Amino acid sequence: WVLVIGSLNMDLVARVPHLPAPGETLASEGFATVAGGKGANQAVAAARLGAPTAMVGCVGDDTHGRLLRDGLRHEGIDLRALRTHATQPTGMALIAVDRASRNHIVLVPGANDTLGTADLDAAEASLAEAAVVVCQLEVPMLTVQQALQRAKAAGKTTVLNPAPARPLDAALLAQVDWLVPNEVEASMLSGIAVTGIASAQQAAAVLLARGCAHVLITLGAQGVLHAHAGGMQHHPAPVVEAVDTTAAGDTFIGGFAARLAAGASAAEAIRFGQAAAALSVTRHGAQTSIPTLREISAA
Ligand code: ADP
Repeated sequence: WVLVIGSLNMDLVARVPHLPAPGETLASEGFATVAGGKGANQAVAAARLGAPTAMVGCVGDDTHGRLLRDGLRHEGIDLRALRTHATQPTGMALIAVDRASRNHIVLVPGANDTLGTADLDAAEASLAEAAVVVCQLEVPMLTVQQALQRAKAAGKTTVLNPAPARPLDAALLAQVDWLVPNEVEASMLSGIAVTGIASAQQAAAVLLARGCAHVLITLGAQGVLHAHAGGMQHHPAPVVEAVDTTAAGDTFIGGFAARLAAGASAAEAIRFGQAAAALSVTRHGAQTSIPTLREISAA
């Protein structure tokens, strides 16, 4: 099993002629609601890519919450530890996108911000069954810390996607088997501007020295750098025609975790995660672009 502990959001995306100025009221030219949240996206990816998956999270008692819950249930994700908060709204991202694809984003953490120790207690059965536990940073840091600590104590493999980027202390990093940042997050965590393989190697060395067992820096079309005590390997990405890289990182992490949980080697899990992410960038959308195991096998 893969257990994902993290966020669920509804993204409200309005297309606008230009980004609004302070005080300006603007009519949209198009609108869509898109299911997201890094936690939910990674859970969907793990489930579609072949792992029995459970999700620990919190939504509001509202239409968005019901839609997100139904969506995850439809993917076959175990939702015993998905809580509904009585008063907080479901997490939202209010996104305005102009004609040049620039955006303004207001994040409403809502129910995600209430995820806490009691939720981890409620997820004990799921934790016991899990082989791999995956966290991100869109829920309270204390919850992430405790989740990783409990998972390690129970002998599980822990994966942390440090997104959105925030400083992490050594005590937390020591609980992480696989730290999986993208270039922006790796730069922020290491203090080294990561722009390619060479700088990723430098950043990975800094992060290893801070106590992570493995660092996997995702480098977009340049693939993944894997750093660990035994050395560093670069795994190139499949060459594809990218049309929309939204959720590429989430797809990689879900696929990687799914394969690790199935007992694959690190190299095989990285290859599989990249095959899935490469397919996702050839399609538009976030959760909708995440491929299934069957599609990977056919590719
Ligand atoms: P994020 O979405 O978090 O910014 P990345 O952009 O690093 O993450 O992408 C994650 C993974 O998705 C990459 O390591 C790679 O395997 C795959 N990927 C992303 N962009 C491309 C691309 N243009 N071509 C092929 N694979 C890609």
